[in-house]
Amino acid sequence: MARLDRSMLPAMDVASRCKRLRELFDEAGCDALLVTSIDNVRYLTGFTGSSAMVLVTGAGALFVSDGRYAEQSRQQLDEAGVDAEIAIGRVPEQLELLDRATRGIRRLGLEAPSVTWALERRLTERLGQLASTGGEIVPTEGLVERLRLVKDAGELARIELAADLADVALAQVRERLTESPTEAELALELDVEMRRRGADGVSFETIVASGPNGARPHARPTSRRIEEGDVVVVDFGALADGYHSDMTRTLCVGTPSDPQLVDLLDAVLAAQRAGVRATCAGVPAADVDAACRRSLEEAGFASLFVHGTGHGVGLQIHEAPALAPGSADILVEGAVVTVEPGAYLPGAGGVRIEDTLVVTANGARALTKSTKDTTP
Ligand code: ZN
Ligand code: ZN
Repeated sequence: MARLDRSMLPAMDVASRCKRLRELFDEAGCDALLVTSIDNVRYLTGFTGSSAMVLVTGAGALFVSDGRYAEQSRQQLDEAGVDAEIAIGRVPEQLELLDRATRGIRRLGLEAPSVTWALERRLTERLGQLASTGGEIVPTEGLVERLRLVKDAGELARIELAADLADVALAQVRERLTESPTEAELALELDVEMRRRGADGVSFETIVASGPNGARPHARPTSRRIEEGDVVVVDFGALADGYHSDMTRTLCVGTPSDPQLVDLLDAVLAAQRAGVRATCAGVPAADVDAACRRSLEEAGFASLFVHGTGHGVGLQIHEAPALAPGSADILVEGAVVTVEPGAYLPGAGGVRIEDTLVVTANGARALTKSTKDTTP
């Protein structure tokens, strides 16, 4: 039975990541990158704390954090085999160090989506000498994220374990649906089952949406009692050593009281299969979305599918690529994505079915394996 045992997790290849990041500098028009996204810091260094930055230059790396993380950062960077200078201090001291370390850098890349206006102003002020020496600050986007797109064996093992933990939790609590729990009670039981088996936490706030509440794709669990005739959308995931899983199943307590929902269940299941079949390395992510939409259109429910088909999963629950209309992303081997079409009938209920999949050279392998049978 799935259980999170850190000693059993295969190692991740963290040490090579800064080197691979440097290979992207030319194209991005920078000579160095100040990494401020904490997930990206974790990816590049193995550091799991909540506050740190890494300056990756052409030749080396400077990791800065505060006193709370002095010991942890040394230990984690050392364990990951990361070759970086570690500097600990309060924020003004960190900026001072970065100031010194960036001297001579002509084009300093910043991670545009994660730099706050306040930090950008402080950096511009502190790193002012960049301008006086002909240097400049260059906005960048998605550089580390591009590396994160392809999961290594260690990362895949963690996501797979997170998926297993969720599978086991659902198997454990699904029968409870017939005992009239509230949505909130069922959500809590799922969360407890995942934690009991060692999950670091839940991937996101567990969704249990029954009856008419199911018509809202991101409903929060309420005190509504789940009764005979209800169709129940359960969307949840576990966190294993920093990595997420994401799965939705739709279950029926007895026969759905609204017969339209029976048709929706069939249609969404067919659409999800069509999406999974379309998932393959080299395929535009938008094509997977189109496959789901086409399938629902054939069933006459296209207008009830009100969100994108899926998203990447890794250190974040929602990351690249985007499986949605208009997405320019191309699926690559080793990416982990969700396929989650849904259909929602306001006032009546909703249906969504979602798996987390790893993209392979000739298709996709599901990491979430719970039955799609709707019986609790
Ligand atoms: Zn989900
Ligand atoms: Zn999802």
